[in-house]
Amino acid sequence: MKVKFWGTRGSIPVPGKDTTTYGGNTTCLEITLESGRKFIIDAGTGIRPLGQHLLAEGGKIDVHLLITHIHWDHVQGFPFFDPVYDPETKIRIDGFPTCMKGLRVPFDNKMGDGFFPLKFDDLKAEMSYLDTLNHGPLKVDDVVIDSIPLQHPQGGFGFRFREGKKTLVFITDNELTEEAWAGRHTEDYAEFCKEADLLIHDAQYTPEELEKRKGWGHSDYVSTLDLALKAQVKKLVLFHHDPTRKDPEVASLKAHCEELAGKSNPDILIGAAKENSELTV
Ligand SMILES: [Zn+2]
Ligand SMILES: [Zn+2]
Repeated sequence: MKVKFWGTRGSIPVPGKDTTTYGGNTTCLEITLESGRKFIIDAGTGIRPLGQHLLAEGGKIDVHLLITHIHWDHVQGFPFFDPVYDPETKIRIDGFPTCMKGLRVPFDNKMGDGFFPLKFDDLKAEMSYLDTLNHGPLKVDDVVIDSIPLQHPQGGFGFRFREGKKTLVFITDNELTEEAWAGRHTEDYAEFCKEADLLIHDAQYTPEELEKRKGWGHSDYVSTLDLALKAQVKKLVLFHHDPTRKDPEVASLKAHCEELAGKSNPDILIGAAKENSELTV
């Protein structure tokens, strides 16, 4: 499997000179299976350049789109995903049960038109809702995808991809806390991530920042590292960077994680998600 980061930022896009390394677009990942089949996770603003990239590659676009949850930063790019205006495009949608509503709302909502020039029904792509992950694993080619509920306001799903002996876990917008009401406890997440080759997890805050933001549904990077160590993952990638975090600050959180990890597991690899970077699992 390959994973490419098209959007790494949390909450709101932050283009500009302070985010050129780690990126300013909101959540969007492209996962390419061994078979060549492509999955997109989330439709934050990173899905706009991904759409242009897919069209430039040529050929018919046939992708799965998994939505973790429908907070604005995870769906706001969808109207600008150019393949949706191409009748040749096929999009198989799955993920959190409200995902279709979340993709539709930027076009049409109860307050009427006026938020976007087109209606959802004007889109030309063939879109289908699989409705699988809410009931069990999704099996595509030789890959099994499972979901886990997130500890996040209004809920959400994290996803695990298993292909042969390789495991990739993507969990964003998740608050690691023992007071979990919507999601799971840390030990459940550790079980879900157990010995994963790659864990990409929300690390929006520092422990100090989290003090004033409990219940907002995000983790501090120390708790995220603890989860990765507990689960004995091979590589941890910090994700959903806070919009206020400048490039050197993201780099220093990563460096601090490496320093902390060195005391208990010097073999674990630590990264911070960088827009346009690609990892092979
Ligand atoms: Zn988010
Ligand atoms: Zn969210």
